[in-house]
Amino acid sequence: MIILKNGIALVHGADDHIEARRTDILISGSKISKLEADISGPADAEVIDCTDKIISPGFIDTHHHVWQTLLKGRHANQTLLQYLPEGNFTSSFYSAEDTFWGQLSGCLEMVECGTTSVSDFAHINYSPEHNDQVIAATASSGIRSIFCYCPTPLAKSWSPFTMEMNALGGHVLPTFDALAAQAPWADGRITLGFAFDAFHLLPKPYLDALMDRLKQHAIEVITFHYSHIPAQAPQSIAAKLNELGVLDERFLVAHGSNPTQEDAHLYCRLGVHVSSTPSTELQMGMGVPVVAFRDDLGKDLPENCSLGVDCHSATSAYIPYEARLGLQSARAVYGEKFLQQGKQPSSVKYTVEEAFNLATIRGARAAKMGDKTGSIVEGKCADLVIFSATSPCMLAAAQQDPVAAVILHSSPSDVETVIIDGVMRKKGGKLVNVAVDEKAKATAGRSSLKWDDVAQQVLRRRVTLGERIRGVDLKDAEQRMMDAWHIDKQAIVDHL
Ligand SMILES: [Zn+2]
Repeated sequence: MIILKNGIALVHGADDHIEARRTDILISGSKISKLEADISGPADAEVIDCTDKIISPGFIDTHHHVWQTLLKGRHANQTLLQYLPEGNFTSSFYSAEDTFWGQLSGCLEMVECGTTSVSDFAHINYSPEHNDQVIAATASSGIRSIFCYCPTPLAKSWSPFTMEMNALGGHVLPTFDALAAQAPWADGRITLGFAFDAFHLLPKPYLDALMDRLKQHAIEVITFHYSHIPAQAPQSIAAKLNELGVLDERFLVAHGSNPTQEDAHLYCRLGVHVSSTPSTELQMGMGVPVVAFRDDLGKDLPENCSLGVDCHSATSAYIPYEARLGLQSARAVYGEKFLQQGKQPSSVKYTVEEAFNLATIRGARAAKMGDKTGSIVEGKCADLVIFSATSPCMLAAAQQDPVAAVILHSSPSDVETVIIDGVMRKKGGKLVNVAVDEKAKATAGRSSLKWDDVAQQVLRRRVTLGERIRGVDLKDAEQRMMDAWHIDKQAIVDHL
């Protein structure tokens, strides 16, 4: 048992309104079992003094390619089409062991940042072993995850660059069936989802057969990338899937950016969720404001939305940064319209509470985990983040408005303790050592790892990966990829 004493807990009430409540929290096993002032537990309970601390629900990241760690720093000045060969297709150079270390490091980066649940779009499907290592690394880290198994076009050769266009061939569907027979993993912390970007391209009989398979395997989260970008998706993919009769509340759209009015109506009417990823969407020109801050297309649209990091290879994994960027960019766009007409808005658009909800309870609902996590309620899983309220960044803001402090003032260094499923994964500002999952013991070479062990592996492996990437022509790969995908090159221009 763990007792969190005398903290300020951010508790969701009616209409998702946040109450900052001074309370004790009793954690029994994996669950929040009591929320009350002055809880005294058994003598062997671990008591954490939370005086001058803020206790937040753990953050929910609904779209992330967690394997990408070895590529961090490569995409700072890239467009989406420049990113795809270097950020996606170089996965062909990852061994199954590289995948384990990249995934474990990515998971621990999230834990460091207070993310307790992730929807992992795992598009590194080179072999059954690659998938096994992703799952084993995720299990080792302690994070809660939907492992979204991903049939995806993979690099077949680099000289010249060609892709294996049949994403569903070879081992892919048998491996999916085998994983469905194993799931869930890690005492239920890791469940199986499905990620696939080509539903709309499948002939109807193949699509129907795939949807039957997802139903048989009781898949609750189905995710795909869709941005309404002229060069790539001139037609609405969401509308097409609806025409084909497959779009429903299981779907979680990554980005959904620059939506048509029809897209927005579909998301609201069918209960389809969206993961906005402000950093990558703003960098790569996918549309602003991000959908999570588009109440102009439907008052209820933001309620179906959530936040994701997308690529920690390109940006930080800290969900409050994404909330901050989405919120402030939406406010900027709103204010700009007034400015262009020589006016000023009488009030600020959107609130920090709305941003906080996207990062927590709405994220949990989008990931079909709303009954399990995303808020501090008796009976839910103990997925909690404890912030310092007296650090140089948080001081005064935390006492005035703790939600504003988390969204606008905090950084990962203010996250002192992270508890997932009742287990402390970050303590006193430091990641706790991880117990290596059985399936990765041969890869890890030991049964317990400290952060520095992981860091040393990543440092070594990114150099080897970098040497392989230096040997290929990424510019040529970009052109050939655009040809293979029939990208409209006329729509890509140097300037307006
Ligand atoms: Zn993505």
